[in-house]
Formats: sequence, C-alpha cells, structure tokens
Amino acid sequence: MNHELKTIQDTMLAKFKVDIDLDKCTKCRRCAVNCTYDCIKWDKDEKKPYVSKDSNCVACQRCTVFCPVDAITVRNHPGTYSPHANWTTYYHRVIYENARTGRVLLTGMGCDQPKPSVFDNLVWDACQVTNPAIDALREPVETVTFLGKKIDRLDVKDMKKGYEVEDIPPNVRMSMPLFIGHMSLGSLSYNAYISMIRAAEKVGTLMGTGEGGLHVSLRPYKANIVSEVASGRFGVGPDYLDVAALEIKIGQGAKPGHGGQLPGEKVNEMIADTRGIPEGTDALSPNPQHDIYSIEDLKTLIAALHEATDYKVPVGVKIAAVNNAPAIASGIVHANADFITIDGLRGGTGAAPRVVRDNTGIPIELAVAATDRHLTRQGIRHKVTLVAGGSLRSSADLVKMLALGADCGMISTSVLMAMGCTVCQQCHRGQCSWGIATGRPDLGKRVDVEWATQRVVNLFNAWHAELEEVLGIMGIDAVESFIGNRGRLRYIGPNPHEAQILGVKHAGE
Ligand code: SF4
Ligand code: SF4
Ligand code: SF4
Repeated sequence: MNHELKTIQDTMLAKFKVDIDLDKCTKCRRCAVNCTYDCIKWDKDEKKPYVSKDSNCVACQRCTVFCPVDAITVRNHPGTYSPHANWTTYYHRVIYENARTGRVLLTGMGCDQPKPSVFDNLVWDACQVTNPAIDALREPVETVTFLGKKIDRLDVKDMKKGYEVEDIPPNVRMSMPLFIGHMSLGSLSYNAYISMIRAAEKVGTLMGTGEGGLHVSLRPYKANIVSEVASGRFGVGPDYLDVAALEIKIGQGAKPGHGGQLPGEKVNEMIADTRGIPEGTDALSPNPQHDIYSIEDLKTLIAALHEATDYKVPVGVKIAAVNNAPAIASGIVHANADFITIDGLRGGTGAAPRVVRDNTGIPIELAVAATDRHLTRQGIRHKVTLVAGGSLRSSADLVKMLALGADCGMISTSVLMAMGCTVCQQCHRGQCSWGIATGRPDLGKRVDVEWATQRVVNLFNAWHAELEEVLGIMGIDAVESFIGNRGRLRYIGPNPHEAQILGVKHAGE
C-alpha cells in the first residue's frame, strides 16, 4: 500500500476556489497569461486553460476582470475547518504557516483583522431651519489647505501696504486637505509610481516618495513631492531635498517600531541608482533612526534639514499611532517640526510581519483626537499641521478625521485601488498581477500610465466634490473652519468611553 507522505503545506485548505466555465470559454488564453501566481495555466495539448491548484490563488481577480466572456469565477473555498470560536481559520493558517516555514510570516497591505472602525461609529449633523445650508454646486466652499507651521500672530509691517506680514514659516499650498502618502519606488513599479505623481500634480496636491529616493526622471515634479528621510537614508542628497516638503519617518502605522527591507533581487539598476546603493544588494532600513534617541536629537535633524533647504521647505515628522502619540507629538512640536503625520493601525505597507501588522498600534481616529486635544491644551496646536492617515476609505472618513482634529488626510491604499489593486495582500511577493507592487518590468507595464493617472485624478476630484457637498450641508464655507469641529459629529457606537476619548457627544445629546 502506498502511503503518500503529505507536507503540512499540502494539508492546508485552499482559501479560494477557481472555476472556469469551458462552455463559455473562447480559449483566448488571457487568464493564463494574466495569472502570476501559477493558479490558472494553459494546457498546450488541449489548448484550453485549466486550474492547476486552487491553493495558489490569492483572489487578485485579474483573470476574472480580463476574461472577455465572464467565464471565470473566484470565490471563497467552500471547504472549511470544523468551526471553532477560538481556533478560527485565521489561527489555523498562521500556525500551519509557522510550522511549515519556521519563520516570521510576512504579509502586505494593512491589518485585515476585524478591529472595530471608529469612523463607522460616527455621523455628522446637517443644517435645518435656523442655520442655512450652503449649496456647494452654486456657492463657493473653500478647500485649500496649507502644509506647514502656522504663525503665532500677524505682525503688520506697514499699515499702508495692507496685510504684509513678516516671518511666515514655509507652507505648501494644496487644493484640498488630502495628499498621497509615502510609497517607495521599488516596492511599487515605475508606472504606478509616476502615475501617482502625475495625478498629484494635476490635482494640485502632494505625494510622498517613501523611503526609496527620487528617481532623476521624477525631478520635474518636485513641487508636488514630499521627500521621506527614513532610517536607511536612501537617496538623500541635495536634489532629494529640493522638493515641496520633507518628512522624517520615525514610524509607520502598519508596522510601528519596524524598519523596512527591499530584497536584493528587486534592486535593479534603476532602483540602485535611485537609492544610491549597489545593484543587487538588500536595501535595509533599520528599525530606529540611529542618530535619534531623544527629542533633542530630532531637533538637531530638523534644524539640519531646515538649514540645508534655506528654511524654505516645511519639515515634518511621521509617527505611528501608538498609545503615547499625543506626548510624542508634543515633543515633536518642541523639536520645531512644521507638520506631524500620524499613521494609524490599519495603514498599508508593502511588507510587514503579520504578527506586528495585526496587533500593534491604535486606530487613527483615537490617536488624532487625543493628539489634537493634547496639543490644544498645551497651547501649541497651531504650531504644526496635523496630517492623519491609516485607512481613510472614503471622503466620509476624511470628513470625520478633519472634525476630530486633523488638518489634512493622506491616502495610499485607496490610491492603489484606484489603479486596479484588489487588496489581495500579496505586495511582499513582488509578483503583483496588476503591475503595481512589483519590480518586474514585464508586470509593471500592465499599468497604463495615462489610464492610471486619470483614475487617481478622478478619485481626488470625487472626494473633493463630496467634501464640498458635506461641508455645504453643514453650512460651512471653508474647510479650515471645520478642523477639530467635534460639535458637528455624534457618536452612535456601543462604547461611551470611546466617545469620551474622541470628545464627541452621543447621538441625542
Ligand atoms: S489571476 Fe488571481 S484570481 Fe485569477 S486564478 Fe490567478 S491568483 Fe486567482
Ligand atoms: S480568459 Fe476567459 S475566455 Fe480567455 S481562455 Fe481564460 S476563461 Fe477562456
Ligand atoms: S498592490 Fe498588487 S499585490 Fe498588493 S494588494 Fe494590491 S493587487 Fe495585491
């Protein structure tokens, strides 16, 4: 009797089930070409597609979208482990993978666990009889936002000349309170990257470089770039600093306390050139910034960046949303930063240890509300622009974020989704079937730059119009007067203590 010895990987149930309706199929072969995960293959002899292994499927849905006759269905696999309230399928998979690999499990994108979304527990009010609404289609609603330190007071130099003031700190103008967060070239394809930068320019907003440097071909877009100064210091030089704004990265919402790594096989000639490292070497960013161990150290680096840019560029600091974010933010203000970015628990990433991604940090809503209140009580809130990110899923989340105290939001996953990303969480594998999170030039070409640019522009335009619409129904004609306006929010969730931390009254109050 032949007893086949199965590996533990073989005994793990497939997550997804792929079916091809061969009666509908026209044998065009697109699905086999599009699937980068060796799930759908082409049978050369029979000249038809076949599913080689359901367990290879990651539900990226590339095959289904590109099948011209809708012949493919990808769904949750009907096979299931015995239901158990404690040993859920999540823990089955984690333990089997731990046992198979003996390693830290990596994953991409933001936390996929059902952590409660505080945004979903909030609603805003609307004008009724005594406070008139604004018709945003016919009346102006100002959405222009400035990134940078606000002045303490207006010092009018010469009354005859009007409102000329002195000593205005550097500020960058954005058409709306939203920009594209930091994602690096290398973790993303060149086509995806340049599409986002072009979109930022068209919209009149900004995009973060991520920690991967700025390729020479992207320098014409410098007025729309926020360069990241991360622990690896990749590509940091005079050209890299000659941009709209600089941001020192201390932490990231998806992996607080963790650095980054781009494996050597992804470091091709262009990436090596951009990052200023030899081709084929691992690009490692250490967990801490090795020259920052105190607020004084941070102050020194901020001063150095101010000096290097002739005090013309706002310098910010990005931290992950953790328990003591308000106290850290206060220190950052005292270190003379011009803006603070807080990145929340559900923020995305190209690669993170699953155990870190799914269990570290706090939701951005609570972190921002607490930080805004802390800085206000200390009388230093106006000294920085407060930027918040970490899974803003819609213009509604943005509106609530502003009311909780952020001056501005930043989005990344939603931008990738606008370009086709299906949040399959495989970014760390570098074989993104949509051509987005990959260093492979053959896959990167799948992103059509014109199309992707327009999609991202459309996303921003849609959120902009919706923001105007919502401010209008609340009778607010300028976004600036809405920042921190918790009085317009009401809490409808189950936890009064949460409402208290947010500083928002319960519905009916
Ligand atoms: S293309 Fe994506 S969804 Fe389709 S079979 Fe391959 S992995 Fe699954
Ligand atoms: S893409 Fe659709 S029509 Fe083309 S081979 Fe695959 S299943 Fe058949
Ligand atoms: S970027 Fe690509 S690999 Fe990453 S989640 Fe989106 S579709 Fe998947």
